[in-house]
Amino acid sequence: MANRIHVLPEHVANQIAAGEVVQRPASVVKELLENAIDAGASKIELIVKDGGKTLIRVVDDGSGMSAEDALLCFKRHATSKISGAEDLFRIQTKGFRGEALASIAAISQVDLLTRTADARLATRIRIAGDQVQEHEEAVGPEGTSLSVKNLFFNIPARRNFLKSGKVEFRHVLEEFQRVALAHPGVGFRLVHNDSEVHQLPASKLRQRIDYLFGNRMNSRLVPIAEETQLAAIGGFICKPEFAKKSRGEQYFFVNDRFIKSPYLHHAVMTGFEGLLKPDTFPGYFLFLQVPPETVDVNIHPTKTEVKFEDEQSLYAILRSAIKHSLGQFNIRPVLDFEHDQNLETPYAYKDKEAVTPQVQVDRNFNPFSEPEARSTSSYRKAAKSGASWEALYEGLGAAAVAEPGHAQVEIESGAPSEPLLDTAGLLKQDTRGVFQLARRYIVTRITSGLMLIDQTRAHQRVLYEQLLENITQQEPVVQTLIFPLKLTFSPAEMHVMDALSESLAGMGFRFGDRHADHLEVIGLPVLVPEAEAPDLLDGLIAAWQQHEGTDGFSQSDRLAKTLCRKLAIRPGTPMEPAAQLALVNDLFGCRESQLSPFHKPIHMTLSLEELDHKLNAHG
Ligand code: ADP
Ligand code: MG
Repeated sequence: MANRIHVLPEHVANQIAAGEVVQRPASVVKELLENAIDAGASKIELIVKDGGKTLIRVVDDGSGMSAEDALLCFKRHATSKISGAEDLFRIQTKGFRGEALASIAAISQVDLLTRTADARLATRIRIAGDQVQEHEEAVGPEGTSLSVKNLFFNIPARRNFLKSGKVEFRHVLEEFQRVALAHPGVGFRLVHNDSEVHQLPASKLRQRIDYLFGNRMNSRLVPIAEETQLAAIGGFICKPEFAKKSRGEQYFFVNDRFIKSPYLHHAVMTGFEGLLKPDTFPGYFLFLQVPPETVDVNIHPTKTEVKFEDEQSLYAILRSAIKHSLGQFNIRPVLDFEHDQNLETPYAYKDKEAVTPQVQVDRNFNPFSEPEARSTSSYRKAAKSGASWEALYEGLGAAAVAEPGHAQVEIESGAPSEPLLDTAGLLKQDTRGVFQLARRYIVTRITSGLMLIDQTRAHQRVLYEQLLENITQQEPVVQTLIFPLKLTFSPAEMHVMDALSESLAGMGFRFGDRHADHLEVIGLPVLVPEAEAPDLLDGLIAAWQQHEGTDGFSQSDRLAKTLCRKLAIRPGTPMEPAAQLALVNDLFGCRESQLSPFHKPIHMTLSLEELDHKLNAHG
């Protein structure tokens, strides 16, 4: 039998290896920025186009390379950073494996221009898919400029796998932020599609965080400083009351290298124990310095996973450092999520339209014609007519239908002998037939028995339909703010806001000036109280970040769901009788009144027969 094994040609081997190092444009960004740091740069510029898919260029003022090194750097396992295995245990640089540039050159078109301080001329090299196409002397500044064009140009399958420019840019930004945070003493600039995203002067860590994440960050930071024999811990944590719904701003660095460690993340979280609202994540920017020989960064090609010699002790140190710092800065538990419900003022029903239910009687109502709710797009109109209310109301008695003008009140109040119309011809708000049970349910009398309505789910349903209706009708009711709200966002958050702006506008959000780090809100949907707007938008961003990249319709749908969940009356909130009644009315004006937007049942009925049956079952 003939021999079948052969050694793969180098360019094939390089392409395969590239798969480990380069997953997407952001991986290239990481490698190039780290090389610039290793070269001792004091200023680094990152220019990307189309999320890095068409261009990634890093320009630094570091050491540069000689003509020979410039050619050698694209060879696999070519590195200036280690020379023997023993060096692996005293690594001071970001890189050391000597494979990033070889991998990148195998799958893209690379342009390199580099000059050392003592050389008169720079070296220019053009290389594509491993093939050197140009190698010449050129005029150039001291330092290195490396451009990576058309990533995966020669591997269409991988290229097609890349996400939209927007999504890829978010990953690029994330890598940029990690490197910029780890090196506040280095100046950075980031340009995307010809517009400047960041201009970061060399500074201290605190200012760097400020620059990157917006100046509202400054007042939220609590410093951490702890020194033990095993490790030194520094950096900042965010005060627990500013914890967010997303994990966004959690950065952990070991010897100035960003790493991911679920175990040490857990240590941080336990340090915050008892101080966080449920399902929120505190921001942190933590720097752990350990002797290089006690940590192995060579367990993964991208080096974001590391192995510690004594992870358990680090866990304990980290946890107590967090607790210590929170204690020192007098940060006490957030009490208000467990507060006494009795102290709460009754909930003023938020839906302004619903606070004063002006139910109009439709004297021309004909119970035998098609219920209006089925045909109209405005469920609210239907609710006011009373028609859909009856049509949708379960267990409605025949007597009620026969007297259309009175039917609605009759059902709710069960007091038909009272005069039901005031002199203005409007229905009186008769709330005797509704009450709240355990501050969670609204109980209302219906002709055939009792109905129990889950107040939270009912309100979610009402809000959800109102929001979607706003979007589909394109004419939301907007409250214009007298004083625009100025909301600060990190670039990543700003990016999400851009992506959502159309859907948000459809719902009634109005935005004014947009700056690099803040946005003016000049109008809100009437459903959204001004005071809750900042928190609400944060929540929306977080929700969106967790499920990015869906089409227009489901984006609006998800926004509506997130909003209604945030805005709905919580269980445990006392409601005034008028608000209870208004909510019941609104619910039965909805297209769907049985299920919440999250497919949970909203109400149940207890008919007289069932009651009789239950009570007499053992008799
Ligand atoms: P590694 O960083 O692991 O050594 P790379 O493939 O990233 O491997 O880079 C190979 C070598 O090229 C580096 O060791 C360094 O000597 C040189 N090099 C890469 N980028 C730069 C740069 N921006 N400035 C100076 N030298 C560089
Ligand atoms: Mg490198």
